[in-house]
Amino acid sequence: MKMDVPLSLPDIGEREREAVDEVLRSRWLSMGPVVAAFENKIAEYVGVRQAVAINSGTSGLHLAVRALGLGEGDEAITTPFSFVASANCLLFERVQPVFVDIDPLTLNIDPELVKVKITSRTRCILPVHVFGHPAEMDELTNLARQNGLFIIEDACEALGAKYHGKQAGSMGDMALFAFYPNKQLTTGEGGVILTDSDQLAGLCRSMRNQGRDAGDEWYEHSRLGYNYRMDEMSAALGCAQLSRVTEILAKRQAVAKMYNERLSGLDGVTVPYVAPGVEMSWFVYVIRFDPAINRDLVMKEIAGRGIGCRAYFQPIHLQPFYRRSFGFGPGDFPVTEAVAATTLALPFHNHLTAEEIDYVVTNLAEVIGQC
Ligand SMILES: *Cc1c(COP(=O)(O)O)cnc(C)c1O
Repeated sequence: MKMDVPLSLPDIGEREREAVDEVLRSRWLSMGPVVAAFENKIAEYVGVRQAVAINSGTSGLHLAVRALGLGEGDEAITTPFSFVASANCLLFERVQPVFVDIDPLTLNIDPELVKVKITSRTRCILPVHVFGHPAEMDELTNLARQNGLFIIEDACEALGAKYHGKQAGSMGDMALFAFYPNKQLTTGEGGVILTDSDQLAGLCRSMRNQGRDAGDEWYEHSRLGYNYRMDEMSAALGCAQLSRVTEILAKRQAVAKMYNERLSGLDGVTVPYVAPGVEMSWFVYVIRFDPAINRDLVMKEIAGRGIGCRAYFQPIHLQPFYRRSFGFGPGDFPVTEAVAATTLALPFHNHLTAEEIDYVVTNLAEVIGQC
């Protein structure tokens, strides 16, 4: 029997509906107490001094780049195996993204390769905790210290992940979470900037609100700013979600475990790698195929059987805009390209049932036999 198994689904319960409804009934829809409450809660959860809520992970990345004073003539070392926003935020400020290839197991930026790309123009390392697996932050932090570089930690996919006991989002000079509906926690659209620096947080608070400083009059703008504010409904949703974050992460862990078990006997398929000392926070569940298997054909076939799936990620350097602007082409980052050509994200959300997983795996096995 054909089933419909979506790629992702937000987990919205009664608590979420009540929290949003309460804001709506209060009629205080923006710049109110709920955003501040959400910021306090998430700062406490991660164990950092400051959290600044914004309207997307991308706007947060942009403000982090600006707050650190990066600009034209500067370089930032980052990964081509990520969602495009983690490199675009550099381009917004004319910072040169310097891509380096990834580790074939963790799929995160390879610190050894970062090391050789550091020049006198390098100001920042921008690692991404891909799929919720923390990057090698010890090595990266050492490199940053030795060379006087900032770290912007793109933790948009990794809320709740731990690296040798440290929370994702607590290790960079600035860090980001994003709350789009497919992330572990959602606010609809939204994100948060995390930092231990009161000064950087203050700059971000000002820039998200049209460049107003805390003491400014309404039409007084101390610096260039944006409207990157999070609204109160989104923050209410975020508070409700955060209050059951442990339960949410445990559900995702359980789904990943079921997949791991069901897929372990399947020839030609490798389940996600988790490095020693790492506690994964499951954003998506991404398998890798043996190169002999035609991934695109498998994807098409199982999609036809009602199974939501997607090729995570298309390398950033091969995006048309990056090819045109920087002259990148195939072969520039071989590990990234090989991984990108053989990965597939399977349906993954908090309420995926054993039955649905069974349906996915059974069909996958059948299709692989033919591709
Ligand atoms: C989701 C995500 C972002 C930010 O996304 P928004 O849609 O702007 O909230 C940034 N970087 C990575 C790696 C992401 O996965």
